[in-house]
Amino acid sequence: MSRVFNFGAGPAAIPLEVLEEAQKHLVDFKGEGMSIMEASHRSKMYDDVHTEAMALMRELYEIPEDYEILFLQGGASSQFALVPMNLYQGGKAEYADTGSWSAKAIKEAKIQDINFEIIASSKESNYNHIPENIHFSDDADFAYITSNNTIYGTQYKTFPKTKAPLVIDASSDIFSYPVDWSTVDLMFAGAQKNAGPSGVTIVIIKKELLGRVSDKVPTIFRYKTHAEKDSLYHTPPTFGIYMLGLTMQWIKAQGGIKALQKANEAKAALLYDAIDNSNGFYIGHAKKDSRSLMNVSFNIKDKDADLEAKLVKLATENGMIGLKGHRSIGGLRASIYNAMSLEGIQALVALMEQFAQDNN
Ligand SMILES: *Cc1c(COP(=O)(O)O)cnc(C)c1O
Repeated sequence: MSRVFNFGAGPAAIPLEVLEEAQKHLVDFKGEGMSIMEASHRSKMYDDVHTEAMALMRELYEIPEDYEILFLQGGASSQFALVPMNLYQGGKAEYADTGSWSAKAIKEAKIQDINFEIIASSKESNYNHIPENIHFSDDADFAYITSNNTIYGTQYKTFPKTKAPLVIDASSDIFSYPVDWSTVDLMFAGAQKNAGPSGVTIVIIKKELLGRVSDKVPTIFRYKTHAEKDSLYHTPPTFGIYMLGLTMQWIKAQGGIKALQKANEAKAALLYDAIDNSNGFYIGHAKKDSRSLMNVSFNIKDKDADLEAKLVKLATENGMIGLKGHRSIGGLRASIYNAMSLEGIQALVALMEQFAQDNN
């Protein structure tokens, strides 16, 4: 067996231990004579998986009891629409625009014709930083941020303080550091970056927000519907939830989320040091104080597209894939989520250093 180092932004690397555990039980799940994928979502066999995934998530991420965990479908993108549908109360919503994903969320607010304001944006500088001193109005219906900007490689170091319900799209940094839940009211994420394969969408929502939704909102699109049925209102993405549960077990085996945070800091530091110590051969996209620990976006000097393509190709030949930058900024992007090993980063750094020497 040979496995590549997968630096892709999403769907992204999954820990080998998780894949192997799933493989072991794929055809005959713990003596049940069938796969978990074939089991009824009303069976005890599946219910144990569902309940354990939720309980482990609550334990590891230290989610307080007054928050509901929901397993939905539709991807993080569906939440761009569901958030205003469920939280807007006829007042005002406020958004911070820190990249393409925030912009897409804002587009959905526009479509729903709600009263909203973009109170901070780094668009003018090609989203290379998180705006300083973001101040949401305390009386806003909700305040919206994207904690990690997957494309531009920027990340909030602390969440803005506000009395308004704070909504966070954490699709690309969920489970990578401990969260102070007293500052967060709704967090959502597609699973495919840091929590398993695509298919399940995680929503963590303060229970007191569930009652806001109007009965004009279709049943399936109400958080309340899913909360009342423990995310078994209809068929949930059972295999994705199973894999999410295995990922939670893996996080526990790594020492929990604090331990992962430490590892993530060390991993990102190696890569940023390689950029900073390259005498200008590599140039990071994000300003230093906004640098993401999950996505490292960079260019080669003079945005030399030929050299950038050459490095991506060389990396691929050496078993490091997924490094081509997003089309909106070009260059390279190394996505180094929880599942990326230190060895993977070390291999990439060695290659980058050699490449800079050979091409400078
Ligand atoms: C990937 C990503 C999304 C989109 O997720 P889907 O599950 O594909 O809809 C949204 N927000 C952020 C921050 C992302 O990284």
